[in-house]
Amino acid sequence: MDHRNEPASLADLESGLRFGHLLISINRHMSREAAALAQSLATLLTEKGIINREELEPQVQAHREQNQGDPQVMLSKAPDKYQCPEQVIIDCASRVPLCRAACCSFRFFLAPQDLDESIVRWDYGNPYWVRQQENGYCYHWNPDGMTCRIHANRPYPCRVYDCRQDKRIWVDFEGRVPNPDLQAGR
Ligand code: SF4
Ligand code: SF4
Repeated sequence: MDHRNEPASLADLESGLRFGHLLISINRHMSREAAALAQSLATLLTEKGIINREELEPQVQAHREQNQGDPQVMLSKAPDKYQCPEQVIIDCASRVPLCRAACCSFRFFLAPQDLDESIVRWDYGNPYWVRQQENGYCYHWNPDGMTCRIHANRPYPCRVYDCRQDKRIWVDFEGRVPNPDLQAGR
């Protein structure tokens, strides 16, 4: 039985919100504790002449950049995908033997609209990035024919993406010359 179109009950919603709020409050408490400890340490070490504030800042910045790849919840602010005006029309069917539909191996995160529909699957380990298969392609990508299984409901980025100038895919779009790395397989 397909439950995808059943609306969530109020109890489901409340339970989900409680869980989210609990996590937020735990995280906020832990962040405050960590920040208080770090600030106290920095003050103490500076007062004792062990560290120099000017030397500390580049280190802090370096760690900020290092942590940028850490998993975090990402949600797109894309507008209504069904009202999307900028859809790009490309002759994909005749090109997939060349491009291998590489656009469907790019990662992007979903919008609340996608989550509400419960059709596009997201990556549980990296909410709310689109889920991928082991081969790196989107979960909804069909290797037979290299097509999208959920074309009518595909997310906003799939509708507006334009591969024509993307050098990861085409050396020459008009000349139908794909990036040689694509032919080498992934
Ligand atoms: S890379 Fe371009 S031509 Fe190939 S499937 Fe994607 S949009 Fe179509
Ligand atoms: S949803 Fe469809 S069009 Fe979008 S990346 Fe996945 S397979 Fe490709």
